[in-house]
Amino acid sequence: MNRPTSGDRGRHGTFTAFARRWSPVRVLVVEDDVSLGSVVQRGLVEDGHAVDLERTLAGARRALDISTYQLIVLDLGLPDGDGLQLCREVHRLDTPPRVLVLTARDAVGDKVLGLDAGADDYLTKPFDFAELNARVRALLRRPEHARTPLLEVGDVVLDPAAHTVKRGGVQVPLTAREFSLLHFLMDRAGQVVSRSDLLDAVWDANYDGLSNVVDVHVANLRRKLDLPGRPQPIDTVRGVGYRIGG
Ligand code: CA
Repeated sequence: MNRPTSGDRGRHGTFTAFARRWSPVRVLVVEDDVSLGSVVQRGLVEDGHAVDLERTLAGARRALDISTYQLIVLDLGLPDGDGLQLCREVHRLDTPPRVLVLTARDAVGDKVLGLDAGADDYLTKPFDFAELNARVRALLRRPEHARTPLLEVGDVVLDPAAHTVKRGGVQVPLTAREFSLLHFLMDRAGQVVSRSDLLDAVWDANYDGLSNVVDVHVANLRRKLDLPGRPQPIDTVRGVGYRIGG
């Protein structure tokens, strides 16, 4: 199942041209909906991949102990926990698989949390099977070095894959919400981001808790990012929202 090496190219030109478009890989599908899991598995097998199906986090962890996967298709709502937990765990492996998150929840907040947890892509249920196959192929084509680039604004560096933030080279411990807020702002460095955009992205569209929840979290984030003698990286744009950089 290995990709052909450069040495194979001259000898098997036709095969390599085919393999460059499409190389079968080992895929782990983690989905507790039995019929959906089977359909996804069958479709990926028909596309030529070797596919294992697990229905729980515990099962997925056992499978990952035994086999090396290039891709995990991961449901978030699992009977024994949240798929995002597994997403974070696989990034500590020596050769972390790509992760495609399947979520029934279409709230932007889940997508942001999924991408923050190290997911490479996500698909909202119900999805078209052709779309799943297209996303899988696109993920497997993406070169290793193109994965999760660091975000840098001034001396603030956010690593989406490692889920870490540093300011001036020193690690800043953040909560998951604070990390998501900062990630969202840094993705849009130089632009003013409104409170309602932040609320939609980091909480979810139906959040009806405290109206000042964004301000409270941004205030905590600013306090944690504070470095004596350096300017505060997050600006308040009065009456509009927040901006980092620019
Ligand atoms: Ca589920």
